[in-house]
Amino acid sequence: MKNKDYETVEFLHMIWEDYSTKHDINKDIDALIKLVENNTGIARNETEVLATVYDSALVVLDSSKNIDEEEKTRASYFSYSLYSDETNKPDFGANINKKGQILLAHNYFLETLNQKTSPAFGVLELMYTIIHELLHGIFPDLNEKAITEKTEEVWKSGMEEFVKH
Ligand SMILES: [Zn+2]
Repeated sequence: MKNKDYETVEFLHMIWEDYSTKHDINKDIDALIKLVENNTGIARNETEVLATVYDSALVVLDSSKNIDEEEKTRASYFSYSLYSDETNKPDFGANINKKGQILLAHNYFLETLNQKTSPAFGVLELMYTIIHELLHGIFPDLNEKAITEKTEEVWKSGMEEFVKH
């Protein structure tokens, strides 16, 4: 959690686990298939996979009824990159700084994508994490608990709205 200035891998796995045990993830997988089809082209390498995942997360955020247009616009200016200096911070999962730059740990990214359960689960978790970071960036004054709750709301309403169209 935020007693460190970043999100640990453990925390990120935990909030997704928490969400996915409470909700019907099959619906999210249907939405995901549609999202990936819309973001045309086949992702061939890491950079392209990350770009697809990030763009899909933005579409979900944009579809959500829980945040307004101005807040959505703010998120469109954020940037992202993979963070590979994990020798110093082995538990580093993700972070957004004051400039709106999102860092996603390279190991966390790969391990989550390549988990055994289902590749779709990995993509969904990474999108969930990105939305969580986007919300930290949009609402810098909200605490961890509030952002975690907002992540759930935005995800749920964003996915629901998105599949309607
Ligand atoms: Zn957080």
